[in-house]
Amino acid sequence: MTLRPPIALALLLAAGSASAQAPLPFTLKQVGPGVYAAIDGPEHKAGSNAGFVIGDDGVLVVDAFFDVDAAKALVGEIHRLTPKPIRYVVNTHYHADHTGGDQALRDAGAIIIAHRNVRGWVRADNVNLFGDRITPELKARIEALPLPDVTTDKDLIVWLGDRKVVVRTVLGHTGGDLTIFVPDAKVLFTGDMLWRKVAPNLVDGSVAEWATTDAAFIAMPDSAHMTYVPGHGDVADRADVEEFRGYLVDLKALVNQARKAGVKGDALVASVAPTLKANHPGWTISDRAAAAEIRYMDEELAGTKKRPVPAAD
Ligand SMILES: [Zn+2]
Repeated sequence: MTLRPPIALALLLAAGSASAQAPLPFTLKQVGPGVYAAIDGPEHKAGSNAGFVIGDDGVLVVDAFFDVDAAKALVGEIHRLTPKPIRYVVNTHYHADHTGGDQALRDAGAIIIAHRNVRGWVRADNVNLFGDRITPELKARIEALPLPDVTTDKDLIVWLGDRKVVVRTVLGHTGGDLTIFVPDAKVLFTGDMLWRKVAPNLVDGSVAEWATTDAAFIAMPDSAHMTYVPGHGDVADRADVEEFRGYLVDLKALVNQARKAGVKGDALVASVAPTLKANHPGWTISDRAAAAEIRYMDEELAGTKKRPVPAAD
């Protein structure tokens, strides 16, 4: 009988250690020496992909997920792999599924680097994106998102000791997009300029600019041996970038063709969606996503597409 309390305590401790080993909401994949991709799990608990680069004297993180707990878990994984300090987090763009966990990175010591336009968009425009689907709790969380510490509308080189990381401004997804390139590992973190086998979110995008940016990814020196870490979907290679760009080109061509035949509105969606899906087998394109893609593409071709407007600093 006297053994019961210690047994109960042992069970509690065992339960505690079991929960500490709860499965991560992302899969960590090493994509180069000291370079890791954190790929969102099938249940999309993290909200997007992220990653990090371990340099000589510190760590640079790429994006912060939507979920704060996922960002904290990423910090835990970094600390497990290296004693070096987390020095930077670079947001690829303002969308909350890439910036939602920024506070966890800042609490871990990171300076937040983002495109110049992100500072004006990360709170108000994320609230707008959710529209009437937003809850009071989510609205409060987004309105408290940290603002970036360092902003740029030009390319940057971040030195982690002798390790060079190139942050580039690119066009297409939001009007405030950055990519992060690690030349010595031939790894490009593309943010949402690349989605692997899933329909992209065009809400703030320009397909014309986007396809041009992806063409530049394909044309990078030694692209046949590069690894591309997309914003959504699994780790990618050049063939995946070509396939994604092909999707954008196809979307534009299909919508253009239907428009020229005088098809409009719901009929445009109904006429294009089945072909769009059939042309991209193995992709995740929900009915809702297909409808959104086609309407946004229609607006872009009509010249009525709304995009976020840069605010003054
Ligand atoms: Zn996005």
